Amino acid sequence: MRLRQYLERRNFTISPEPSGGTGQQQSELPIFVIQKHAATHLHYDFRLEIDGVLKSWAVPKGPSTDPKDKRLAVPTEDHPLEYATFEGTIPEGEYGGGTVMVWDIGTFENIKQKNGEPVSLEQSYKNGQIEIILFGTKLQGGYTLIRFKTDTNDGSWLLIKMRDEYAHIPANPTISKTNSALTNRTMAQIRKGYYGKY
Ligand code: MN
Repeated sequence: MRLRQYLERRNFTISPEPSGGTGQQQSELPIFVIQKHAATHLHYDFRLEIDGVLKSWAVPKGPSTDPKDKRLAVPTEDHPLEYATFEGTIPEGEYGGGTVMVWDIGTFENIKQKNGEPVSLEQSYKNGQIEIILFGTKLQGGYTLIRFKTDTNDGSWLLIKMRDEYAHIPANPTISKTNSALTNRTMAQIRKGYYGKY
């Protein structure tokens, strides 16, 4: 039960987050989403559809379009595919309490190869070496996710922009493009929507 941790951490009678998942692929290419999450510490949740779930990383500084930036990406629990379009406010005191925005959403292509042979996303995830092309509304082009180990780290990853025509140096899209990719709302508007609705 891959979503056990996700389900255990949440009370769905209190949180507006989706409670389950079909694991059914929605599009020909797998989907990705980057959710801006104003929890205790603002971060960006980077999620990739792999094997019927959204594999997830919390990226404190958010993605960069500068290939020189190595952005720390801390793995978090698998999320259901339905989470990709979740936007709203998780009540304070609940797990991940705070406002969530769909900052970017789209599809991606796995381009990882080894010795000229394609490597599946599942295998790439296990190996800690993912190479993809994003087709988002804000982010496009190649990105690498690499797992690294140190004495004090047991498996964090780095998110790095590949050098291609979509690398913009030193533009920072988390500063220049701040509205929702799904609803064009600001964080404040999403937050107000929650209070207006409930
Ligand atoms: Mn988060």
